[in-house]
Amino acid sequence: MSAESRREIEPELPRPLPPQRLGAIRRRLLRWYDEHEQPFPWRTAADPYAALVAAVCAQQTQMSRVLQIYDRWMTAFPTIHALAAASDADALRVWDRAGYPKRALYLHQTATIVCEHYGGLLPRTRDELLALPGVGPFSAAIVLSFGFGIDAAAIDTNIVRVLGRVLFGDLQPVRETPAAQIRWAAERLLPDNQAERWNPALMDFGAAVCAAKPRCAQCPLSTLCAAYPRFAGGEEAQAARMQPPFRGSHRELRGLIVSQLRTSEEPLQRTVVIARVARLARAKQSRVTLALDSVIADGLVHDCGDILYLGSGD
Ligand code: SF4
Repeated sequence: MSAESRREIEPELPRPLPPQRLGAIRRRLLRWYDEHEQPFPWRTAADPYAALVAAVCAQQTQMSRVLQIYDRWMTAFPTIHALAAASDADALRVWDRAGYPKRALYLHQTATIVCEHYGGLLPRTRDELLALPGVGPFSAAIVLSFGFGIDAAAIDTNIVRVLGRVLFGDLQPVRETPAAQIRWAAERLLPDNQAERWNPALMDFGAAVCAAKPRCAQCPLSTLCAAYPRFAGGEEAQAARMQPPFRGSHRELRGLIVSQLRTSEEPLQRTVVIARVARLARAKQSRVTLALDSVIADGLVHDCGDILYLGSGD
């Protein structure tokens, strides 16, 4: 690709952000966090495995449920060795109904790889972490910052929203601000040697103050925020898009299939599972069959002839 065509595709990066302004934002946000810190155990454990579990639990899950899933998981598998020694079916049972059960498989696969190739210690570089199953940039940054105290900027939906508003004046940054701009800004705003406090400060601030509907009147950053004049002038962020209904969805069918096997002491016949799930979801058996094929392809379930078992069977 030529430099010319790259320029057309890459988003234009903003002009340098004045250091004094960045410094003031850092100070005010960290002061806010001193008073509003959420005492989640993985934030202070200095345990890379605990940080990874928390990051994976937090994907597509409300924070109010993350602590419950995390506690259950850490009670069953307190160390990465304990997780690697278990079967993936055990991991799925402990994951229970937490949703998106591939996350349990990814954690189990990662534990196996880390115990086989890294002596049971999660690697300390972003690239090595990103090569592990289910570990994306957010989880890698959480492991580096909470687990190892290494400077790494975590970027999740809340953080995109906060940075896009404060630095670029967008109302709805998840949709308006190019991801490259947010990454660029997040790296520049990250204070030296404080990532384990900075990342959760931004996350909590995005959840409590600069939420989808921002509380600008109570915001310690209002005099520094590029979006404040717009909100104060009466503009509003659009409501979040409605999620498609879960009831009757392909995801519900997948969840019901896994649940049948997770709660059964015995393997189950394929025809029995299909009939039960079709009845429970009031769905056609052909749709349940498609959902079953997809959970088998994902390694959540495996079959041996007409008999279904929980887990990949590896
Ligand atoms: S002033 Fe409003 S938009 Fe700006 S950071 Fe604070 S809450 Fe968010």
